[in-house]
Amino acid sequence: MDPAAIAQVIRQHLIDPEICIRCNTCEATCPVNAITHDEHNYVVRAELCNACLACIPPCPTGAIDNWRQLPLARAYPIEEQLTWEQLPPEVPPQQWASQAPQPGGAQACSASARSALALGPGTRVFRATPYGATTPPWSAAHPYTQLHTPASPATATVVGNFNCTQAGFDSQTHHVVLDFGRMPFPVLEGQSIGIIPPGSSASGKAHHARQYSVASPRNGERPGYNNLALTVKRVTSDHAGQPVRGVASNYLCDLKLGERVQVIGPFGHSFLMPNHPRSHLVMICTGTGSAPMRAMTEWRRRLRNSGRFEGGRLMLFFGARTQQELPYFGPLQSLPKDFIDINLAFSRAAGQAKRHVQDLMRERAADLAALLRDEGSHFYVCGLRDMEEGVVLALRDIAQEAGMDWNQAGAALQREGRLHLETY
Ligand SMILES: Cc1cc2nc3c(=O)[nH]c(=O)nc-3n(C[C@H](O)[C@H](O)[C@H](O)COP(=O)(O)OP(=O)(O)OC[C@H]3O[C@@H](n4cnc5c(N)ncnc54)[C@H](O)[C@@H]3O)c2cc1C
Ligand code: SF4
Ligand code: SF4
Repeated sequence: MDPAAIAQVIRQHLIDPEICIRCNTCEATCPVNAITHDEHNYVVRAELCNACLACIPPCPTGAIDNWRQLPLARAYPIEEQLTWEQLPPEVPPQQWASQAPQPGGAQACSASARSALALGPGTRVFRATPYGATTPPWSAAHPYTQLHTPASPATATVVGNFNCTQAGFDSQTHHVVLDFGRMPFPVLEGQSIGIIPPGSSASGKAHHARQYSVASPRNGERPGYNNLALTVKRVTSDHAGQPVRGVASNYLCDLKLGERVQVIGPFGHSFLMPNHPRSHLVMICTGTGSAPMRAMTEWRRRLRNSGRFEGGRLMLFFGARTQQELPYFGPLQSLPKDFIDINLAFSRAAGQAKRHVQDLMRERAADLAALLRDEGSHFYVCGLRDMEEGVVLALRDIAQEAGMDWNQAGAALQREGRLHLETY
């Protein structure tokens, strides 16, 4: 293959045909009509997809969140994707040169898609997505996924539901506890579940499932019980600030104890925590992005209390508009200082300068540089979609200012499942 063609590397967006439930949500969501389907598969056109990620949150199964790093000339055309029974494995860079170009592959990527997805030096706009790992840490426990589908959802009972932000303020985030009784629903920290709201949309279609990260550790919100917790923000305005009543979030926040909920999943096979002793967790989140961080922190706390685990370092960067909007502010304060290093950033606190998580990260550059050098460190980013670029850019700058080669360090984090991005 032409070396110049190999040099142009993209992250191609693919849909996993083994997981996809053909619900059409992504096709209806994509603003540029990059998604299409036949009676066999849902597929993404590389020449149209600009990696805007608008299709990721509405997908109830996570099937859509698949990316393959490969040379531009090797991009999979939709004719081939439509025939797939399963996703092709990631081709290691050493084998790229021996791969024949796909018919239509090189032509398949538009200039906008190329600039949006291009990796490495020379990229004008910094994009964080390519640095996110699609593999779990080597010591992660094996997750169960897709045990319950929309055709056969599990039913859970609400056993807890309270506002976990300061009462009396407009913004509300609820801590919702769901109990599965005797129905198997095993989850790991970092996984998510899907909630199917009852009823139908204005167009008469049944509501599609919405995803929520699990906020409790693997052995339950209450250890030994078959239950889990969610951290749900009540959506009362859309991203543009216009008043809107979010379907699933309001349904969940209004649930009464004893009510029953339809649940699908679990989802997620890579945003998982390491289990080997002395592995470090750097958790960077905003708002409800704290849910998986709460799960991981609580699991490490239980391990530490059991005295059986020599835990590594835990560092948390947590952002919200104000302290009153920060979920779990009270419980966070009671965690021992020698257990977790907590850094809070408020962007709208009265009388204070605006601070975002990436500002705090830059202030803690010396500690983060040491963690970036340590192969036991794992980085997790979760929360609002627009935080992602700023956070990964801060990591890049911290690495470079400490004399590290970011191209090598960033690629190693991605390859070894040590940098995980989940924003929505
Ligand atoms: C992997 C993953 C994990 C997630 N984990 C969580 C979680 O732990 N907690 C949580 O609360 N949410 C989480 N979400 C988001 C969640 O799935 C829903 O999108 C969210 O609750 C809104 O759903 P809704 O039905 O209330 O709003 P919808 O009825 O779907 O949307 C109403 C309108 O509000 C806009 N909107 C949607 N979400 C927001 C928002 N957060 N802020 C402002 N406007 C919005 C929509 O674009 C739409 O215009 C996660 C999403 C993903 C993909
Ligand atoms: S990432 Fe954006 S452009 Fe690409 S398929 Fe999804 S919604 Fe469409
Ligand atoms: S939204 Fe997800 S599950 Fe539904 S068709 Fe698209 S990829 Fe498949």
